[in-house]
Amino acid sequence: MTQETGGFAALDLHPNIVAAVIATGYEEPSAIQQQSIPIILAGHDMIGQAQTGTGKTAAFALPILSRIDPAKREPQALILAPTRELALQVATAFETYAKQMPGVTVVAVYGGAPMGPQLKAIRNGAQIVVATPGRLCDHLRRDEKVLATVNHLVLDEADEMLKLGFMDDLEVIFKAMPETRQTVLFSATLPQSIRAIAERHLKDPKHVKIQSKTQTVTAIEQAHLLVHADQKTSAVLSLLEVEDFDALIMFVRTKQATLDLASALEAKGYKAAALNGDIAQNQRERVIDSLKDGRLDIVVATDVAARGLDVPRITHVFNVDMPYDPESYVHRIGRTGRAGREGRALLLVTPRERRMLQVIERVTGQKVAEVRLPDSQAVLDARIKKLTNSLAPLVADAEASHGDLLDRLTADIGCTPRALAAALLRKATNGQALTLAAIEKERPLVPNSAPRGDRTDRPSGDRPDRGDRERRAPMPLAEGRARCRTALGARDGIAAKNLLGAILNEGGLAREAIGRIQVRDSFSLVELPEDGLERLLAKLKDTRVAGKQLKLRRYRED
Ligand code: AMP
Repeated sequence: MTQETGGFAALDLHPNIVAAVIATGYEEPSAIQQQSIPIILAGHDMIGQAQTGTGKTAAFALPILSRIDPAKREPQALILAPTRELALQVATAFETYAKQMPGVTVVAVYGGAPMGPQLKAIRNGAQIVVATPGRLCDHLRRDEKVLATVNHLVLDEADEMLKLGFMDDLEVIFKAMPETRQTVLFSATLPQSIRAIAERHLKDPKHVKIQSKTQTVTAIEQAHLLVHADQKTSAVLSLLEVEDFDALIMFVRTKQATLDLASALEAKGYKAAALNGDIAQNQRERVIDSLKDGRLDIVVATDVAARGLDVPRITHVFNVDMPYDPESYVHRIGRTGRAGREGRALLLVTPRERRMLQVIERVTGQKVAEVRLPDSQAVLDARIKKLTNSLAPLVADAEASHGDLLDRLTADIGCTPRALAAALLRKATNGQALTLAAIEKERPLVPNSAPRGDRTDRPSGDRPDRGDRERRAPMPLAEGRARCRTALGARDGIAAKNLLGAILNEGGLAREAIGRIQVRDSFSLVELPEDGLERLLAKLKDTRVAGKQLKLRRYRED
């Protein structure tokens, strides 16, 4: 066991649970876990003020799993969650942590699925029931004894449950459980309505709140980017294209994530390595030395492994996974901007974590501006700039050393110097995409930001949005059609109907003449008749859509 996992081992949890947590890749308990686990293990009622992203689920799941009796085949713990997504997420977390506890089963009880199998799973002896209040009340109406054996109750995201109108259901559920039970309440906020519930239904509760002192961060330019969890790697790769960094540290939550991300970066040609608590101390030191002297440019680390890391070359910190608390955020971004230099910190935020972002902003007293993913044009510009920078210093004396060779090669091959230079460029850039069309083909289309309509505080299940479906390659073109492109896209407020309307009105075309219209985030594609295309594009030259110039151009895919 590494020194860092001692953090979990010291908490008096059931050894099989500690083993499962370590197998999951957690290195040390988060602040809320550190404080809540001993209280819940001791059987106290508790009020925990914490939002998603702090590790609150494990904060109650680990001690509760340690306290149940796997031999007893009856419901022993009930977790109430406001939405089906959260209920499923919590149930999955319990299953993960209970992997090495034979005989422990978990059932998720939520609306929209048949009741029969849920009730059957409860009757078959699931010890952990994770439920939404509405559906649980339906079960209680069928069988009022269903919760009679529950001696641990957790209200997760209690403020959300009240907002969704579950107050009456909660009262019904409280009554259906033994009064001697332990009750734990987690809530991001503690409005009067939550305090009132706590007063009525919790016995002498202990309070846990992650105290956040105001922290100052200077000389570090901070920004955040909204992404879905499954798009983080491609977002990181896009950002690296345009960020002008020297050395960079990326923070993730688990050991596995350090390994996965470091190998994704290596596969793209970056000099990257993982740094986590499993790596032997001398090897860690080697990684840090390599980062210092430029043999490595990127280190993907967990918080534990990066402790005390001081490398003046670090210009950028990417918080790929959200830190558990603002202190850890401040600590992480302090890895850059060393010795009075400027630093830049980027934070990836999934829709469910926006609240954590607000907490960070409040604690640091600074707004963390939103940035968007670079579009293909920006990637192209960055690639060309890098090429320019790498060639510019060579130009001065290249002619003296290689001019004669150039003459000979052009003569031998029978080509112009321009053709030869182009061939050399192709070779030197090793097949890297260096036209807009080639870049668009190569890049998975990550939406530039998570959908605005996604509720911050209600779990959205991090589902992929429209952008995900748009990753498909363009559809084959019909006979006689040409594909055209505009740099206007969804982020400019464009919808297919706006493009259609503009082209119909200004181009004087019949509706049938226009083929598929694909609106993507940073551009759109429209299929138009090949016949007379140049004339049509000339006609549309000054057309504006949503206040912006359409600038429709023929789109070549190669
Ligand atoms: P939660 O705040 O419960 O929604 O947890 C947020 C994320 O943190 C989940 O993906 C957990 O798997 C992860 N997590 C929770 N505790 C730890 C820990 N001690 N170390 C690493 N990851 C954790």
